[in-house]
Amino acid sequence: MDTPLNIVIVGGGTAGWSAAAAIAGVVSQNVATVRLIESEEIGTVGVGEATLPHMKEFNDHIGVIEADMMQQANATFKLGIEFVDWGYKGSSYIHPFGVHGQPLGGAMFHHQWVRSRLSGDESSLGDYSYPIMASRAAKFDFPSRDKNQVSSTYSYAYHFDAALYARYLRRFAERRGAMRTEGKVTDVSLDGESGDIASITLENGETVTADLFIDCTGFRALLIGDALGTDYQDWSKWLPCDRAVAVPCERQPGKLLPYTRATARDAGWQWRIPLQSRTGNGYVYASDFISEDEAAGTLLSSLDGEAQGDPRFLKFQAGRRVGSWQKNCVAIGLSSGFLEPLESTSIYLIQQAITTLLSFLPRKKIDPALRTEFNRLIDLEYDRVRDFLILHYYANTRDDADLWRYCRSMEVPDSLLEKLEFFRTSGHVETYRNGLFTPASWLAVYIGQGVMPERYDRQADKLPLDEMLGEIRKMKAQIAERVDRMPSHGVFVEDYCPSNDVPEAIAEAVE
Ligand SMILES: Cc1cc2nc3c(=O)[nH]c(=O)nc-3n(C[C@H](O)[C@H](O)[C@H](O)COP(=O)(O)OP(=O)(O)OC[C@H]3O[C@@H](n4cnc5c(N)ncnc54)[C@H](O)[C@@H]3O)c2cc1C
Repeated sequence: MDTPLNIVIVGGGTAGWSAAAAIAGVVSQNVATVRLIESEEIGTVGVGEATLPHMKEFNDHIGVIEADMMQQANATFKLGIEFVDWGYKGSSYIHPFGVHGQPLGGAMFHHQWVRSRLSGDESSLGDYSYPIMASRAAKFDFPSRDKNQVSSTYSYAYHFDAALYARYLRRFAERRGAMRTEGKVTDVSLDGESGDIASITLENGETVTADLFIDCTGFRALLIGDALGTDYQDWSKWLPCDRAVAVPCERQPGKLLPYTRATARDAGWQWRIPLQSRTGNGYVYASDFISEDEAAGTLLSSLDGEAQGDPRFLKFQAGRRVGSWQKNCVAIGLSSGFLEPLESTSIYLIQQAITTLLSFLPRKKIDPALRTEFNRLIDLEYDRVRDFLILHYYANTRDDADLWRYCRSMEVPDSLLEKLEFFRTSGHVETYRNGLFTPASWLAVYIGQGVMPERYDRQADKLPLDEMLGEIRKMKAQIAERVDRMPSHGVFVEDYCPSNDVPEAIAEAVE
């Protein structure tokens, strides 16, 4: 039997501790051992608080107990993202974690909905989505396991405190045998022959070797970038936001919303993430279109409650490494690439890279075929997310600010143009096997951004129009009636996973 693979992770942010927790939680120590090196002096990026439903699968897979994690990470549930003022000023739509309606008369639901709109009906697509109606009513419950129920048509994610989540994963990983070293990596040595990373050196002079290094050093990209010189593909011509300013604020008494809000601003957009005890806020902006002071002013003047501390500024460049596994080093997290947090995709990309790495866990002598396939799959993940994000900027009709005019007229990747054209002309949404975002997500954003198809699936016409309209009205009423019976999100969270962090006055105000 092979001796265990010696894995060293550099960096202890969400990426580093997610990797350590997964390896320690899933892989036997006879197969791989894991040591994580992090520097408290350098610290973590400290943002990243909204997630996607895949996180539940990741947590379940590695053995995290949901209620325990939520309680300790000050977490709430998330059913989707509301986009305010995106397609045009005054618009609002929710990208839900679930489908709209149910297939009807031999066609996908949305074809019947398009048909209804073309016949003059004015109801919005969101009226047929269970998670959207629940979000609007600030309600939450677990999805039904009975697939015949409309209350089974969604999944959910979390909002949490990123620092508390990383701390939770650290405890989880250490209990399962992961070793932690406090220290700053100051040097990286390469093997003269193979070009592999031979060792890293810490500030105290210790030299550390490994079979496999995982670079989780964030934007610094110490191993994959500085040491191995892996190129970075710059996507800022399509995603021009390159800065963010972030500040939490006090949570106001009242409804605890089960969704993230992304409000378009003149030079970018502002996030609002509701946690149990506070609200996370940030303005993601394009520095070509607004100054740092103006961005901070916009953010601070539009908070729900009093700011907790001074605003923090972050810089980034949209893009990804050209292959995040090079030699004996895998980059995971911000070191492998960054796509702005509009659709909360970064932690998803982290956890997807980890589960892919686990399924391709190499032996001591790394098989290059594993590396090639890993890079193909992870590159694809990034490319899919990129196109989906660009859609939000490109499909806008705003004429009130330079950023939006630029985005409307920019040249976008062919892969996106083809999808858009297919939808516009036929009403069909392109499907693919690998990569994030199902047709339901693309549909929500197309329609939300004002991209209406000219046609629909001809099979929909089999059902007489009046009958179809009657059926979809029944669907809408059924959803409204079921949502009405759901508990409020605030009450649900307070029963299931009350955070130790919630001040009493706020807890009482959570109805
Ligand atoms: C403005 C903004 C908003 C975001 N919002 C979201 C969101 O809502 N949802 C989402 O999924 N993602 C979001 N993200 C992304 C998310 O924050 C990151 O993907 C996540 O935090 C992982 O970061 P990381 O672990 O890769 O890097 P970091 O958190 O930066 O961690 C880097 C680690 O490396 C260590 N390190 C660095 N250099 C050295 C060295 N020389 N020696 C030793 N240790 C070292 C540091 O100490 C630290 O522990 C957002 C990002 C930004 C910029």
